[in-house]
Amino acid sequence: MDDLDKFCCQNKNCTKHGIRGEKNIHVRAVYGPNKTRLLYCTVCKKKFAETRGTIFFDARLPKEKVVSLLKHVVEGNGRAEDRTFAESRSRHRKSLHKARR
Ligand SMILES: [Zn+2]
Repeated sequence: MDDLDKFCCQNKNCTKHGIRGEKNIHVRAVYGPNKTRLLYCTVCKKKFAETRGTIFFDARLPKEKVVSLLKHVVEGNGRAEDRTFAESRSRHRKSLHKARR
């Protein structure tokens, strides 16, 4: 199965907006430290990051750290979170804020 089937066009004005498995999504480029893929809709010609619409979009922390942070949030383990990420408090606050929305 093509993993691009999990993605759909993010352009609200596109006829394929929100519809998965239509084969209209292709990879245009790969960028950043997390190897984020820039996806491309063949119908409306718009490009968007594969993380668009998720908490990983525009996150400055590595994906693994965001996932780890989320586990702490889910477990309600705020102290462990502070201890583990004390060195990057101000940076991860933004990610946490997104996760709680
Ligand atoms: Zn589209």
